[in-house]
Order: sequence, then C-alpha cells, then structure tokens
Amino acid sequence: MKMTKTSLIALFIASLFTGIVPAQKNGPLDFRPVVEKRLAAKKLKLEDICAIDTNVVARRVFKDYGAMFIAASEVRFPTNCVFTNEEEVSAFQGTVKSRTATIGGRTIELQSAAMDALEKARAAAAKRKLSITPRGASAAKRSYADTHRIWKSRFDPALKHWTARGKIKPEDAERAAKLETTDQVAQVIEWEKNSIWFSTGFNRSIFSSVAAPGTSQHLSMLALDVAEFANKDVRAILNEHGWFQTIIDDTPHFTYLGLDEDELPKRGLVAAEKDGYTFWIPNFER
Ligand SMILES: [Zn+2]
Repeated sequence: MKMTKTSLIALFIASLFTGIVPAQKNGPLDFRPVVEKRLAAKKLKLEDICAIDTNVVARRVFKDYGAMFIAASEVRFPTNCVFTNEEEVSAFQGTVKSRTATIGGRTIELQSAAMDALEKARAAAAKRKLSITPRGASAAKRSYADTHRIWKSRFDPALKHWTARGKIKPEDAERAAKLETTDQVAQVIEWEKNSIWFSTGFNRSIFSSVAAPGTSQHLSMLALDVAEFANKDVRAILNEHGWFQTIIDDTPHFTYLGLDEDELPKRGLVAAEKDGYTFWIPNFER
C-alpha cells in the first residue's frame, strides 16, 4: 500500500500534536525505545522478555532476530526471547492462534494472520505465474528440539574445524561441547569476536543461518523459509503482504510483520542492502 496524500497530511498534522517527526525525514527511530513503549502498553517490561542488559545471548537475539517485536498488533511475539526448553516453547505455541496448510507438498504451520497473508501473497504470485513455496522440511513452525538439532549441525563441525586448525585448544573444545546451551551460545559469540566463525562455510557468523536453540522466529510461527527467495518479484509480492527479510544473510528467511514497508522505519527497523537483498533489521547498536 502506498502512502496516500491524505494519510501524509494526517501524519503531518499528527506530528504537530505529538512532536513525533515522520521517520522518513530523519531516518529510522531507535529500535529499543519503540519495543519498550509497545511492551509498556501491555504492562510488560523488556527485561522480563529479553534481558538485553544482563544476558549476552538475549542481547544478540534482540539485535539479530528482534524485528518480530514491532510486528502488527494481531501478531503474537514470544514471551521470552530465549526459550530454555521444550515445555516453555509448547506453552507459548499453545497460546497462539495458528493454522496449517499444505503448500508444495509440505505441511507448514504459522500464526493465523501470517498464514492468511501468505495465502494472499501466493494468490497474487499465481496471477503473475509465480509461486511461493516452503524451503526444506522445517520451513515454518519449529520445536525446541528442531532448533537444538539445527544449532548442533553447525556448532559441531565448526568446533572440529577450528580445533583441527589449532584456533581452539582441544581442552577448550571439549569443555565447550559440554556446556549448557546458553553458555555454549555465549562461548560462540566470544569466539566469533576473534573471527572464529561457526557458519557452515566457517566464514560468517553462525547466527546468519541458524538461531541459537530456543531463539528462532520459527518457534513463534512467524517465519517462513521460502524456496523462491532469489526471485525479486516474489520478494516484492511477499513484502506487499507484510513478509520481510529481517535477518542479514539468511536470504530464504522471511518474517511476518504484517506492516507496510513505509511503517518499518517508524518502528525502529532500518533497511540494510546486501547483494541486491533488502534486510529490515533492528536499529540497535550498529
Ligand atoms: Zn528461517
């Protein structure tokens, strides 16, 4: 949806009363205060949902995957940005209105609003002889166990790789392998500060392709990995229906925000352009 003249005038008039200047003129707003304000309206505190000042993993999750916290009001964001076990994940998922659909031979589950928008996007794509289908076997909703398994699929080989190259001492590797999940994630964050990368190709951050266990947007049923992500027209159609790429370098991954693109900077997201892709990421400590 494009801004109409009337809505621009309304925005200008609103800005006179509220003192809030339309974001397009002054760049994106800061992400953290936007989220805090939204949470306050629900009598929630950021530190209870995502302890970004005291927990290094929570901070990283907020920065890398936080976009969902500013989604449209019909979207349910997680009550905890780092779920620590399966019980916490199922308890949250059980409170969310969701729907399943079989698309391209795969059954996926998403929050209802996200599924509605996806179906509209698919219909719009079909009119242009394009398709939008899930990529891989766990393209939408995931369990805690899924996120743990996917994390290990990157963590284990990278640990072996860097140990073999003498960048990580064998005793440190052995200790890291036995750590509690959150401590293990914190250790990876430390190693990556020294360019000891844990992605599949050992050349990028592990967080560019997998989330730490218990932290994925897929747990919130707000994410879909799209097979046709490389098609610019498909991306544009998804964007028009509230689906955006919000994690740098995770190109197949789309997040349902349920908002017009114009609205994103006003909610503290900033557009990062990379290799022809636009990632809408939190404007937070960059
Ligand atoms: Zn994904």
